[in-house]
Amino acid sequence: MTTIADRLANAQHRIEQAAQISSRNVDEIQLLAVSKTKPNSDIVAAYAAGQRRFGENYVQEGESKVNALKQSCPEIEWHFIGPLQSNKTRIIACHFDWMHTVSREKIASRLNEQRPKEMSPLNICIQINISGETSKSGTTPEALKSLANRIDQMPNLTLRGLMAIPTATLNKKLQRDEFQQLQALYLELKSLYPQVDTLSMGMSNDLEQAIEQGSTMVRIGSAIFGEREKR
Ligand SMILES: *Cc1c(COP(=O)(O)O)cnc(C)c1O
Repeated sequence: MTTIADRLANAQHRIEQAAQISSRNVDEIQLLAVSKTKPNSDIVAAYAAGQRRFGENYVQEGESKVNALKQSCPEIEWHFIGPLQSNKTRIIACHFDWMHTVSREKIASRLNEQRPKEMSPLNICIQINISGETSKSGTTPEALKSLANRIDQMPNLTLRGLMAIPTATLNKKLQRDEFQQLQALYLELKSLYPQVDTLSMGMSNDLEQAIEQGSTMVRIGSAIFGEREKR
């Protein structure tokens, strides 16, 4: 039977190999372990194996995990990567270190207002809707600059980069095109804001392709924690 520690090591190995193939320094690619729907015991197991960054998708579940693991896993850096309604922003502002899915100024300004003063600024990635499908969340590439400019002026937020969930496809060319467009947007943003250092893209099934196109943070769930039950 493979353990969470084995699967974590395997994911890390895939990242190292992908970095090597594209002649990148592996230290510039972070692994975010996506623990949504999984029990606290799985997070504790990954933590014991050295993992420190964890991603959650659902507000209530995330809040309860942050509270439950405060004592036993004090070094966890919590990332919120799910959709967020504006009436739930306070929970994220008070419990998380990173928020990857900001796509509207209203959400950003609420997070900025609600971030407790004694906490360091909330790290922000702007989510990009790269396929342009209206069913998908994220801001358009055209609206990115003005949103980034607004966030950059908010004292309790730190703009760190971009996040995207590209089209799930077996078409390698389409996949590469989307990753490439995201990388171009990221590099442009980075040239405007020197603190920008994060391109959050790539998941269990496409982390190699994402790293090849410049990802600095891959979000890995099922490859570490196993398949999830449908919610
Ligand atoms: C669930 C999820 C992941 C992890 O997906 P896997 O395919 O299980 O690796 C990554 N990013 C987001 C935004 C997710 O919702």
